[in-house]
Amino acid sequence: MDKVDNSKEVIKQQLEIINGRINDAISKSGRKAGSVKLEAVSKFHPLQSVLDAIECGQFLFGENRVQEAREKFSQLNELGKKCELHIIGSLQRNKVKHAVEIAECIESVDRIELIEEIEKQCAKINKKIKVLFELHTGEESKSGFQSADELQKALDFCAAGNTPHLIPTGFMTMAPFTKDESLIRNSFATLRKISEQMKVHYPQFSFSELSMGMSGDYELAIEEGSTIVRIGTAIFGERDYS
Ligand SMILES: *Cc1c(COP(=O)(O)O)cnc(C)c1O
Repeated sequence: MDKVDNSKEVIKQQLEIINGRINDAISKSGRKAGSVKLEAVSKFHPLQSVLDAIECGQFLFGENRVQEAREKFSQLNELGKKCELHIIGSLQRNKVKHAVEIAECIESVDRIELIEEIEKQCAKINKKIKVLFELHTGEESKSGFQSADELQKALDFCAAGNTPHLIPTGFMTMAPFTKDESLIRNSFATLRKISEQMKVHYPQFSFSELSMGMSGDYELAIEEGSTIVRIGTAIFGERDYS
């Protein structure tokens, strides 16, 4: 109840610290400067926090619940604020219509039924949308495609020409919540390996993004090849779920 959202000053400081650590992890792993995007996950935090982050130069945001995202991000457009929103949470079919209206990318694509609905809703408003395919690599909640085989069925569905409004852009995963670094690394390395295989299998798609890494593990993720790190708590503070 007495949760205090981080002030603009704190958000600014945190963004600076995190961007610095991202750059350090990039150079440590011998990767190209600028090859990792910071996605600020603003779920459970108010519009004001998003506005503060935009003022500090943050461009990319992630939200996991469509209704909440809509309340914040539809207003941002009206205010003329420039930013890009990705949906990162498991998505019910009846939320897809609103999701595709406000987002540039759906990162949590995890079943063919969802792919069909995204195609249908995007066709209606004549919009193309980026999609990432979420793979389950060890996280407890079991979200995402459960195997490379299942993932490939979905990619075959797209490759067969069923989804002209989808732009397959890459893959997403969540590491297990554990202190065991080797398990976390394993999960990220699995996604990278599967991504490399899918690039070979599906040359018609340009898979360039690997969305992996959160507040607690983003440096490991960058070392394992992440191109998008999704960070909430470390920027905006703890979430109040009550
Ligand atoms: C909430 C959430 C995040 C951000 O988690 P933090 O630990 O707060 O950085 C990242 N990815 C997904 C899918 C999330 O739901």
